[in-house]
Order: sequence, then structure tokens, then C-alpha cells
Amino acid sequence: MKKIITSLLFFSVAFAMSQTDSRLYDIIEAVSADRIENDIKTLANFGTRNTFSDTISETRGIGAARRWIKAEFDKTSKNCGNCLNVFYQKDFVTKEGNRRVPKDAWVVNVIAIQKGTKYPNRYIIMSGDIDSRASDTMDFTTDAPGANDNASGMAGTIEAARVLSNYKFENSIIYVGLSGEEQGLFGGQGLATYAKEKGWDIIGILNNDMIGNIEGVDGVIDNRSFRIFSEPVPADETERQRRSRRFYGGEVDGISRQLARYVHKKVKTYMPEMNPMLIYRLDRFGRGGHHRPFNDLGFAGIRIMEAHENYNRQHQDIREENGIKYGDVIEGVNFAYAKKLTAVNAINLASLAWSPSPPKEVEIGGIVEPSVKFRWKKSDDSNVVGYKIYWRDTTAPQWQHSRFVGDVTEFTLNGIVIDNYYFGIATVGKNGHESLIVFPAKTFR
Ligand SMILES: [Zn+2]
Repeated sequence: MKKIITSLLFFSVAFAMSQTDSRLYDIIEAVSADRIENDIKTLANFGTRNTFSDTISETRGIGAARRWIKAEFDKTSKNCGNCLNVFYQKDFVTKEGNRRVPKDAWVVNVIAIQKGTKYPNRYIIMSGDIDSRASDTMDFTTDAPGANDNASGMAGTIEAARVLSNYKFENSIIYVGLSGEEQGLFGGQGLATYAKEKGWDIIGILNNDMIGNIEGVDGVIDNRSFRIFSEPVPADETERQRRSRRFYGGEVDGISRQLARYVHKKVKTYMPEMNPMLIYRLDRFGRGGHHRPFNDLGFAGIRIMEAHENYNRQHQDIREENGIKYGDVIEGVNFAYAKKLTAVNAINLASLAWSPSPPKEVEIGGIVEPSVKFRWKKSDDSNVVGYKIYWRDTTAPQWQHSRFVGDVTEFTLNGIVIDNYYFGIATVGKNGHESLIVFPAKTFR
């Protein structure tokens, strides 16, 4: 009898692990390019959304824009039986001490939290930006429609909330519009600090900044490729961690990189028509985005964005010079592409919100031994079916091999030598969804 039960369990495990989750295909289908188009147009029509622009007008400036965003989240919440907790989170920034702040003002983020049914304090976050800028970032009156930078990311975030609010998740999802990006990442700093103070357990942040342009400044047109930026190792690592990396590896295996690989793999599985590009850097060369303040405080975070930027259409006053049109206007946005990148976010939010927590205290051993071995502490979730060991060549960007090892806390991979690969371990849920992969932080003999 026991044998039958064991083999039945084996088959259900095998089933859970080999199947794709059809709900993710439904989610991709449900994302609407039309709604994204409408929302980008609405945001662009606020004239300017500079963080220091008008807050009183109902039709122009950042005040009107954030009230509209909040109203959209509220509408979504009403349609799902109040499944979203929608609120403003704000911090005061001053002109004094900030070179790019033209006057004292509140930097206001709009937050919508879809509470997890089992682990409400564990969060996966999707962000876009509310604010826009003209050629001069201190200029808060000139028109700055910011249709692509970053009404596209904001509209994607609003749309993801609409789609995912039709589902229930074990973990919480946060949809957020951040402000003050263009003058120094103030909104992201504010929310990351708020999260730290509240003790939020953050799985990661998917920061969307410019997800609608398919025509590069060099003329390349590409509606399939997009970039996933991630820093190599956490910015808050200790000197001791840095030193031990020299002997044990991990230079390209920080928590943000694991999040980036997760997104890459999910897209390859569910949206094979897309071409996700893992970019091994924090952000574009010398430039910034709102995932960084989260990275600064030790949270995993990545930037998702178009592959080909058009510099004539970002951070530019609307004008024509020598036959070249400048300005971040609605004509520069491809809504079908913004829909695709929104779907990229939505399936990863869903899958991470359905996934168990990762294994804890993952240790690796096998120095001068023929086989690599591992031990770890179990995820404290109840919906776990077991653990999966991943490995890859030291030169490979993506995990290449994996082995499901069951509901155990130690395992030896016979015949696999520790020196020749990098390794990581993920938790597998009963629903087939997996946690982020954990790179071992300790060794044992
Ligand atoms: Zn920008």
C-alpha cells in the first residue's frame, strides 16, 4: 500500500513539474493593448507630469496625474470586491542639498497592494513612473508628455493590476507608480525605505521604465526584443562576503541576477516569440532607474525595458530642428509592444506570487571530493512538494541543468565535481511554481 501511495505521489509530482500553468497563457491573452493605449494617452494629456509641476489643476500636472492613477486602481479594486489596498505614500524633498530639485515639494507614490491569501507580508512588486521631464529637468512648466518615459511603464502597471486582480495569490503583489524619478530616484528611495521600516519581505521589484518604443535612434525596428538589467551582486554586501567570493565564486550570482534569470526563463517558456536579453549591468551605462534604490537597501530588483532606445524622443522639449522631430510624444509608442512587455511582467508577478519561499541557509560542500553536496533548511511554506538543484557551466549566463530531489534537506549529486559548475537551489510548490534560485552562501565539509 505504501508503495502505491509513494508512486502515486511520484506521478503527481512529475505532473506538477512537467506541466506549464495554463493560467499564465490566459493572463498573457487578457492584457489589453487598447487599454494601455488609452491610459498612455490620458497620462500624456496631463501636459507635464514633472514632479514639481502643478498639483491643484484637475487637468494638468502631476497632481491630476496621480489622482487619476489612484482612481484607476480604486476602480480595479471595486471590480474585484475591494481586493486592492490603494493609498499614497509620500516623502518631502527640499531644494536645499539637492542640485536637481527646483523647489521644496512632496514626492508622492501611488500604491495598490493585492494582499496574499497565505503570506500577506511577502511581496513581489511591479513599478512604473508617474513623472516626466522636458529637456531641462528643473523645468516644471513646459510640456513633457513622457508618453514612453514613462507613461508606458505606468500604464503597464495599471493594466497588470486589472488583469491579475481576477486571480488569488498566496503572496502579495504591489503595483506602484513612483514619482521623482527624473530628479534623483526619490520615489523609489521613499518606498524602499518605507518597505524596510515596515519589515516587508520583498521577493523583488520589476521596475518598468520605457516599455513602448520599438524604433531605435539608429533606425533599427524590433518589436520582439527587450532588456532585463540586473546588478551582479548586492550593493549592501559585506567586505567578508566580497572576500569569500574570490574563493567560492558568485560574481554573477547576486539576488537581482537570479530574479533576472527567472524572468528570462519564464518568458522563454510562455512567450517564445519574444527575445529577452539578459544585460549584466545595473542599468544602462552611467544611467539610473527606480530599481536601484531597492538594490541599495539589499532587495532584489531588475529593470525591464525596450531593447532600442530613441534619444530624440526622451528628455526632449517637443520641437523640430534640421528636419528631426524631438519629443516624447504618443506617436513614438507601439502599444502592441507595450502589451507584450506588460504580459512579461504579469506572468512573472503571478508565478512568483504563486510560488513558495526559497530554501534557507543553503550550503555547498565537496572540496576535493568526487561529488558536490548540499544542505539547506526547508521553506516554511505548507504547499511545498520539494526542492530542485540547478547547475550550469561557469561561463553560461542561464541555468542549464536541474534535478528535482524531493522533499529533503540534503543531497549529493553523484559524479558532479564542485569546481566545474555553479549551483543553486529552488523550492518547488505543489502547483508547480518555483521560488527564485538561491546561490549557496556558505560551505561545509
Ligand atoms: Zn527618464
